[in-house]
Order: sequence, then structure tokens, then C-alpha cells
Amino acid sequence: MNIDITNKVALVTGGARGIGRECSLLLSKAGAKVVINYSRAKEKAEDLRDDIIRDGKEADIFKADISKPDEVEKLFEHIKKSFGRLDILVNNAGIIKDNLLLAMSLAEWDKVHDVNLRGAFLCIKQAGEMMMANHSGKIINISSIGAIKGGRGQTNYASAKGGLLSFTRACAVELGAKGIQVNAVLPGMIMTAMSERVRKRAGAEILERIPMGRYGEPSDVANLVLFLASDKADYITGQAIPVDGGLSIS
Ligand code: NAD
Repeated sequence: MNIDITNKVALVTGGARGIGRECSLLLSKAGAKVVINYSRAKEKAEDLRDDIIRDGKEADIFKADISKPDEVEKLFEHIKKSFGRLDILVNNAGIIKDNLLLAMSLAEWDKVHDVNLRGAFLCIKQAGEMMMANHSGKIINISSIGAIKGGRGQTNYASAKGGLLSFTRACAVELGAKGIQVNAVLPGMIMTAMSERVRKRAGAEILERIPMGRYGEPSDVANLVLFLASDKADYITGQAIPVDGGLSIS
């Protein structure tokens, strides 16, 4: 299947490393102009932007903590000024702050919701307005199989990613008539910095439960993101698609 998103403008939040980095790369390889949002990984963002430009494509970076309304506003003002439109939003930025429920602090609970859920809300509000103007757009929310499967020490994360899943469906209902599709991708255990501690702690046990017998690569997730960002997925909205090697059904 040939996916061509030439000249589409895409924003990937937390797009400088891990799954976000792979999404930025694949979207740009397929022709999109990519805005890479980062919060702290400035060097990684600059390196990625330079790599993409060297490859003959257009890319831009912008620092913003997506849980902060004023910073999100500035990010979208920048996109409006630089590109005049937004076609694809990948709400990828996310964090974990694992703890057992009874030991979990309110700060751990709030922070995880602030980035994973409130951040997506803030970005979708801004992106939705820009996309409505063109009567088209693709929004892809990176949730987690933690949204549909209980995970020890992850009540805050499960709640935020589960919220993101329900939010995806409600957004899809509201925005469908405006030509905007909203879908959620649910990664399982993917080889990034985020999953490193869990893989070290319970790797063998988790691997045994993955029917495909391996952890996922960031590209496993990004391939689906690219498909959902393209016109090949024009009739798909409000869906939650696991990319987990079968972990959620085993
Ligand atoms: P990662 O830690 O490598 O990347 C997360 C990215 O989000 C980083 O670039 C980080 O700087 C950015 N970020 C964090 N807080 C931010 C903020 N306030 N504002 C802007 N950016 C912020 O981890 P990853 O595995 O690449 O995670 C990407 C997404 O995939 C996350 O939403 C995560 O919850 C989800 N996910 C990952 C896995 C996995 O196994 N790795 C599984 C399920 C879901």
C-alpha cells in the first residue's frame, strides 16, 4: 500500500524520542511536514529535525509542556504562523508514575492525568478548530493496553489512558461531521525508555504472555499511526486498536 501524505502538516507531541520519534520519522518519510513537540529533549528534537531536513523533507521543533494551556496555545500559534494549517495531530506525549494504589500520592495521580489526558484535551481543542476550517483532519491518540487491562501499580496511568480512550470516542462523535477522524492506538510493551523498568523487573513473565513472543518496536506503533493519518483510513473513526503482539487477548 502506498501511503502519500505529501504537504500535510503533522504535529507529534513528545515527538523527539521513543514512539513519538518513530511517528515523526514515518510521517515525514511519507511526505508530511512535521512539527516535533518536545518538553525537555531539546538536543534529540534538534537532531531529529536535522535528520529529516537532510532527507529533503520539512520539519520544525517547538518546546511546550502540553499539560500547560499557555504553552499549548503558543505551540499552536506557532503552527498557524509557520504553516497556516494542521492536518494530523498525534497525541503521543505521555508519562508514567507507578505506585501501588494505597501508596499513591495525589501529585502522582494528578501529574499522570495532566500529561496523558489533560494534554490531549488541550491539543485537540486547538487542533480541532484548525482542522474544522479545512473540514478535514486526523487525530490519533496514543493510549495503552493499560486502558483495557488492569496493571499493578498503574491505577493512575490506567485511569488516564482509559479516559483518553473514552475521550477519543466522544471526540469522534462530535468531530465526524466536520470531516475529522479520531482514533486511539493502544501499544502493549514497546521497546522504549518508558517500559525499561517494567521489562527489567518482569520481562520474562511478560514475554511469556505475548503470543508474538517479542516486545514491540516503536515502528510497530508508528506504522499504524501512519495508516490512520492517511486517507486510507478515511472511514475509520472512534476506534481503539491495540498494537501489542496479542498481549491484551492472552
Ligand atoms: P518515552 O518516555 O520515550 O516518550 C514520551 C515522550 O513524551 C517523551 O518525548 C517526553 O519528553 C514526552 N513528554 C512527557 N511529558 C511531556 C509534556 N508534559 N509535554 C510534552 N511532551 C512530554 O515513552 P514512549 O514509550 O515513547 O511513549 C509514547 C507514548 O506511548 C506515551 O503516551 C505512552 O504512554 C504510550 N505507551 C507506551 C508504551 C510502551 O511500552 N513504551 C506502552 C503503552 C503506551
